[in-house]
Amino acid sequence: GGPVNNDFPVVYTEDAATKLSDLVQRRCFNCRTTGTCTWRRSKLSPGKLLCNKCGLFERTHSRPRPAQLPNKLGP
Ligand SMILES: [Zn+2]
Repeated sequence: GGPVNNDFPVVYTEDAATKLSDLVQRRCFNCRTTGTCTWRRSKLSPGKLLCNKCGLFERTHSRPRPAQLPNKLGP
């Protein structure tokens, strides 16, 4: 993980059924991202959360989205 601005520990869940709070936030089950415009539920892994990109890929290809190359920071 990289630097975070939060001064409190945040727990990330990949389970769609987990109750969210200020300290419990969502994470993509497939690519582990925590930032996405829309959360989707996996059909290949029922009950798991996917980010928008992984959810669309799974729906289109019926398989998990491959791991991403490391993202560069900045534009
Ligand atoms: Zn994802």
